[in-house]
Amino acid sequence: MHKGNIGVTTENIFPIIKKFLYSEHEIFLRELISNAVDASNKLKALASTGEYKGDTEHLRIHVSIDKNKKTLKISDQGIGMTAEEVDKYINQIAFSSAEDFLAKYKDKTTLIGHFGLGFYSAFMVANKVELITKSYKEDAKAVKWTCNGSPEYTLEETERDHHGTDVILYIEDKENEEFLNEDRIRELLKKYCRFLPIEIAFGKKKKWEKDKLIETDEDEIINNTKPLWTQKPVDLKDEDYKNFYRELYPDIFDEPLFNIHLNVDYPFNLTGILYFPKIKNNFDIQKNKIQLYCNQVYVTDQVEDIVPDYLMLLHGVIDSPDIPLNVSRSYLQGDPNVKKISSHITKKVADKLYEIFKNQREEFEKKWDDLKLFIQYGMISDEKFYERAEKFALLKNVDGKYFTLEEYEKLVKENQTEKYGTTVYLYATDKEEQYTYIEQAKNKGYDVLFFDGQLDMHFINHLEQKLKKTAFKRVDAETIDKLIEKDEQPKIELSEKEQNNIRHAFFGALTNKDSFLISFEAISKDDMPIVITRSEYMRRMKDMSQFAPKSFYGNMPDMYTMVVNANHPLIKNISSEIQTTLQPELNELDKQIEDVEKELNELRNKQNGKKDEEIPQTEKDAISEKEKQLDELKKQQKTKLETFGSNNKTIQQLIDIALLSHNLLKGEAFNKFIKRSLELIK
Ligand code: ADP
Repeated sequence: MHKGNIGVTTENIFPIIKKFLYSEHEIFLRELISNAVDASNKLKALASTGEYKGDTEHLRIHVSIDKNKKTLKISDQGIGMTAEEVDKYINQIAFSSAEDFLAKYKDKTTLIGHFGLGFYSAFMVANKVELITKSYKEDAKAVKWTCNGSPEYTLEETERDHHGTDVILYIEDKENEEFLNEDRIRELLKKYCRFLPIEIAFGKKKKWEKDKLIETDEDEIINNTKPLWTQKPVDLKDEDYKNFYRELYPDIFDEPLFNIHLNVDYPFNLTGILYFPKIKNNFDIQKNKIQLYCNQVYVTDQVEDIVPDYLMLLHGVIDSPDIPLNVSRSYLQGDPNVKKISSHITKKVADKLYEIFKNQREEFEKKWDDLKLFIQYGMISDEKFYERAEKFALLKNVDGKYFTLEEYEKLVKENQTEKYGTTVYLYATDKEEQYTYIEQAKNKGYDVLFFDGQLDMHFINHLEQKLKKTAFKRVDAETIDKLIEKDEQPKIELSEKEQNNIRHAFFGALTNKDSFLISFEAISKDDMPIVITRSEYMRRMKDMSQFAPKSFYGNMPDMYTMVVNANHPLIKNISSEIQTTLQPELNELDKQIEDVEKELNELRNKQNGKKDEEIPQTEKDAISEKEKQLDELKKQQKTKLETFGSNNKTIQQLIDIALLSHNLLKGEAFNKFIKRSLELIK
């Protein structure tokens, strides 16, 4: 038996190892099994050059727990080590690399994979570690290395049947007893070792016999040694990809839309399979589904620094030994390999989408509604992706037809270009609510797009910046003639005065006075007498303010414009009704107003050129008296008109019908409308 001190420094690093990554002690298992896999792979490599003559087909790694002895054992049948090698690799190299690692990363808690701690990570959970190993070399003797967590170790000869290594962890501390729990170990093996290339056995297979679950002699293998991404795409069928998706995400029931098999070996190494999931509306939940591996060892599912944000919606695996793992996240973002990987993935994804679009347009259109969110997100947030996606991004119209941006421009350019040269893309966000407006637009031969996705409004904003001389307008943003202004608007036949009277009368009949502006247009007499529109600009500001609740627009009420059709016979009737019933009184008031205005003018003229202090107080008072009178008279006039409006059933009915067609008539107002309608039928 031989005793010695580990490594080069006398300082005891074990307490540090124990504290390090306190919450992530579990990675010791990944580190030790990775070593066992490496040792097995090295033997395979030696077999392939003829240096090793034995069988390398069945190099299983065994993981087992002994509850009584409180040990967890990891056994491999790999190359093993001689006594000299233990001294070199375990006492010196492993120690110094662990020490290096700790010295460098002591304070960095956000290391990507925590890779590099290696063999000594065993001491994060064990009070004592035994390593029994026998080299594959002929005549090699087995040795046992023991260390109880102090820098002292012992090395002695022992017996082992076969070459390979056992690492035995003695787990005594209460805080680590979870690692003696079978379920916990199985869970960790499933997490980190699920796709390792060497079989890992943990426990025995169980089977049902006479209503009892009994153990068989057969090892339970917890991993799939040939995960799909390591295989050649040419050998794989669509079904294989779907099955692998199910293997990766047993909890997701929807099939993926399609997949992309990544396979790069220059200028960096990367393999993987990405899936386009069927995206549910709640796209936050879908993030963190991509798993990052390093040579089939699971690293993390936090890939936000490696994959652009919009690609985080994808599912699948990425495996690359070229992503630096024992670095902090902030370092990772600047790493040139990582940048290349990220842009490679973007390109691959775009290429694949284009390929499907080109070769299977019908398929692509069928999947568009599910793909849309993701592609729009990409186009908005990544200029490079926009350039690629321009060719295959689709617009859908209210009849369910799909167009590329180019196709759509061709379709509408001629008929939907305004006299100022801007082409107007019309859209609807609710086919039921905006039915009347959609129909009107269609009757004019316009096409109407349909946008009801959660990113659509952002996408529209983005397209307006990108496309030349193009504006998007919702079908109810203006009256049909103004929506796409082509020729001079016809003249309004009502005089200013008549318009003013009608405005006051309508205002009197409105319940929700703050939300409406009243304007006049000469629309065709066959159109509606009143049309309610909602300014595109105001509506968008309001919509956008949902994302910034404290903004100015967020506090504004929803504003609508009540456009009165000056050409409509019913409106003309109202105007004449005002004439006949109110005009004598209004005229009388007009006359009084005129008189007061005259007097006021005279008073003001008198003061012309005088300084304020030269004007006697009596004159000043006289002026403010007249101003008051004028206000009062105007108010009277207004009140007369408003009262007329508020008692006029035709006006009320017209307003309500307009509100109704915009789905704005609700509650009590709706009830009143029904009652009034019945009265009018009588
Ligand atoms: P790393 O694996 O990063 O080299 P480790 O500290 O995990 O660092 O291991 C140090 C060395 O010890 C390994 O490079 C290897 O040579 C040797 N070693 C560790 N575990 C085993 C094993 N199970 N079988 C054979 N050699 C091993």
